[in-house]
Amino acid sequence: ERTRLGKLRRLPSVTTDGEEMELQANLEIPAELPLIAQAGAQGIGLLRTEFLFMNRKGLPDEEAHYEAYRQIVEGTDGAGVTIRVLDWGGEKDMEALAEGVEPFHAGPNPALGLRGIRMLLRRPELLEVQFAAILRVAALGPVRVLLPMVTIPEEVREAREIYERVVKRVRRRGVTLPEKLPVLGAMIETPGAALAADAIALEADFFAIGTNDLAMYTLAVDRAEVEVSHLYDPLHPAVLRLIQFATEAALRLRMPVSVCGEMAGNPRLVPLLMGLGLRSLSMNASAIPRVKQMVRALNIDDCARFARRVMEQSDPKRIQELVMGFVPGER
Ligand code: PEP
Ligand code: MG
Repeated sequence: ERTRLGKLRRLPSVTTDGEEMELQANLEIPAELPLIAQAGAQGIGLLRTEFLFMNRKGLPDEEAHYEAYRQIVEGTDGAGVTIRVLDWGGEKDMEALAEGVEPFHAGPNPALGLRGIRMLLRRPELLEVQFAAILRVAALGPVRVLLPMVTIPEEVREAREIYERVVKRVRRRGVTLPEKLPVLGAMIETPGAALAADAIALEADFFAIGTNDLAMYTLAVDRAEVEVSHLYDPLHPAVLRLIQFATEAALRLRMPVSVCGEMAGNPRLVPLLMGLGLRSLSMNASAIPRVKQMVRALNIDDCARFARRVMEQSDPKRIQELVMGFVPGER
């Protein structure tokens, strides 16, 4: 079976009726880079940049960011890299951040506190360094910028103002920037953002739906808490409805939208996600061959019909049964 999955690498990710599905990889540490090429990923849909801040003294400077991004952009042969700016907070241990740097305020509930874009807007110098490095690396291949934990349109607007200031500054330094600057997207990973996706879409250039946090915040279940892990269910109708709402808001505006949470790497969930209108998924590289195998067995009309059936259900158990029972090609 290994060799069969290996052969898939060169085959297109397309349904039996010709609908293309973009399959990208999530990258957490640069060491995973060789896996991405092996798996046949079409670029990186989520580059988590937290690794740059770990196990070091002091904060990484622009050069450190640039070097890391350069390696990754060059290592993916211009297939495109979506770079998410620092998402610290929540379950991502704040204490571990850049040894020797004053820890960020964790607050009574870090998951509901100063994390993601909230923290970056409070410490814009962090954002500026990252933006500058991303702009420089844009000369080497297509990149996009992704903002974590957005909940209001204003956060995207404010980040964009900082971005535009950095563009001017980098230009003044004599750096040649590509004609088309990297676009700026928002993670949709809270119920608030999902339900206001139409408003956030007016400020953002693309969406990346993060189902890990979306499920956590929707169901009030900490993704790292074992005592309630049985309640952590991305197939809960509440989570699915939020994914559907955010996806439709993006599609109405013809704005790119992808799913980059763990859900995206589960082949059994692909028919449903495709049926909801998604055409781009980003996942652990190791999941790509099996997801591609599923895509290649699907027919898009069947997916749409199946998604309608699932979305009529309100019982999580019934949804689970339907999803597990789906057989490609069987009506
Ligand atoms: C998510 O929340 O679904 C996501 C992709 O981001 P992370 O897992 O890094 O929080
Ligand atoms: Mg997240």
